[in-house]
Amino acid sequence: MRTPIIAGNWKMYKTVGEAVDLIKGLLVGLGQVHGREVVVCPPFTALYAVRPLLIGTNLALGAQDLHYEPQGAFTGAIAPTMLTDVGCRYVIIGHSERRQYFGETDTSVNRKIRAALTVGLTPIVCVGEVKAERDRGEAELVVGRQVTAGLADLRPAEVARLVIAYEPVWAIGTGDTATPADAQAMHATIRALLSKQVGAATAATVRIQYGGSVKPENIDELMAQPDIDGALVGGASLKAESFLRIVSFQ
Ligand code: PEP
Repeated sequence: MRTPIIAGNWKMYKTVGEAVDLIKGLLVGLGQVHGREVVVCPPFTALYAVRPLLIGTNLALGAQDLHYEPQGAFTGAIAPTMLTDVGCRYVIIGHSERRQYFGETDTSVNRKIRAALTVGLTPIVCVGEVKAERDRGEAELVVGRQVTAGLADLRPAEVARLVIAYEPVWAIGTGDTATPADAQAMHATIRALLSKQVGAATAATVRIQYGGSVKPENIDELMAQPDIDGALVGGASLKAESFLRIVSFQ
């Protein structure tokens, strides 16, 4: 039985004051939400300030990236223990925007996953094809390569601790969602791949989120698919009302 997990990726939005207000707004409605994990990933600058608001609540804290080294001369980077130090339990790794604009590769994703697991963080590992790859019929090939390389040489017990987010890049921030059937098909492909890599028993426990223009209007249908175990939500996580509706999926 996989507990559904919905995570909000706030990207480069929200000052500290705005982040605190949004958390307060979410907490008003989250008391009625049960049987699912809910995570918010604010920008680094807001993590420390929102942490006290989350203690004793059913809202968990995550970050949007980390460095794979434990510490050192890496100007501008954030170490894994810096995230646990401010109360993070989750970290997004390999988001398509990191791959596109910051040179993230499957190799760095693999190193970051290991670094996150070492300090007890749960990685939310993002994979997904761009539009041209889907149009060429290469979506499964591309996502398969990202999963295989990103998770290379991880032990089954380590893979069991991951959350994987399938995010077709053409659906991110565009309003253009994959159909529930197409998303389900890719999730099943990812689970089959995991099964080959670490065995069916482990693959059956790994939660696979869908991401890409998830909103109140499409969450119920997406979550009704057997291999969709949650959602990674960008734009619709920036307002309490829409995120609360999403986490309250039927
Ligand atoms: C994301 O950033 O991971 C994302 C899915 O964004 P949006 O929901 O805005 O498409």
